Amino acid sequence: MRAEDFSVWLSLIGRLSETQRREAVAALLEMDGGESEAGAKAQAKAPRAARRSRRPDALGASGHERVEARGCPHCAGREIAAWGRSRGLARFRCKACGRTFNALTKTPMARLRKRERWLDHARAMIEGKSLAKTAELCGVHPATAFRWRHRFLGAPALDKPQRLSGVVEADETFILESFKGRRSDLPRKARKRGGTARHPGLHQDNIPVLVARDRKGATFDAVLPQDDSASIATALGGVVTASNQLIGDGGKAIAAFARKAKIPFHAVPAPGKPTPEAPHLHINNVNAYHGRLKQWLNRFNGVATKNLPNYLGWRRALEAWDRQLTPQNWIKSAIGIGPYQQLTR
Ligand SMILES: [Zn+2]
Repeated sequence: MRAEDFSVWLSLIGRLSETQRREAVAALLEMDGGESEAGAKAQAKAPRAARRSRRPDALGASGHERVEARGCPHCAGREIAAWGRSRGLARFRCKACGRTFNALTKTPMARLRKRERWLDHARAMIEGKSLAKTAELCGVHPATAFRWRHRFLGAPALDKPQRLSGVVEADETFILESFKGRRSDLPRKARKRGGTARHPGLHQDNIPVLVARDRKGATFDAVLPQDDSASIATALGGVVTASNQLIGDGGKAIAAFARKAKIPFHAVPAPGKPTPEAPHLHINNVNAYHGRLKQWLNRFNGVATKNLPNYLGWRRALEAWDRQLTPQNWIKSAIGIGPYQQLTR
């Protein structure tokens, strides 16, 4: 069985009933040498706690993968021992600090309930389902679906490439924030109009978002406080350096950033129209990304500015997983082993 299929299979075990579990154990023991009867008897006799400890980890192999990749969540120690189980998750103990933890400790996913529904939730996010549909699919309240959505996005929002390589295309785009969007982004009922508006007259804002992509498809993005070179330097510093070649559309802010950071810079005269002498110096990839991002964002009818980094991370993760985009990998992203964190480690 392929490793991916196996982790699906393993993760579904959490949904088995007591009877189904017994049947499965008997079937497995039978494959291991025809001891199904003895095995089933032993299983029936085993104390409850011991039986529970034999239940598989609700995260399948991903939990172990995270611990292997990230080490101790308390001190980042790398010497880690298995330490039994607690609440359906494998527990670990760090030799350096002596503290115990599981794969979710100190992640936004810690203490999130109904782990058996996480794969459904991951699938709904991959498909970009609405909160109402997601809530229905997962059997939770829409308010819970909203909380889950943003817990699932806590780690992906930070999962960006630390460096881009070679030729890098960069351009800003503007995302419209609207009060209408703010309402539909929240699971509560819309407030009645007619009260005192906090920003009378001003019902939308354009939020600058910077996107930089290299030619391998690695994508970096950031919400800019202002569309100026200082904000771009804060966002792109260290990610794009003098060893890169930066291409922009001739906008002032990116050009000024490149000049100050001594990054070779090429301005494309008009979007989609590179010069005949340098046909490879274009920003078509970054503009195509903008297009996909905005089209995909449409389904949310506008998002609140404070949540925008989460939505950028969502889109980034969808594209970065590419052909490996599966509910299992989506959960990996959510527990902090997203596509970029894996590559940069
Ligand atoms: Zn430690």
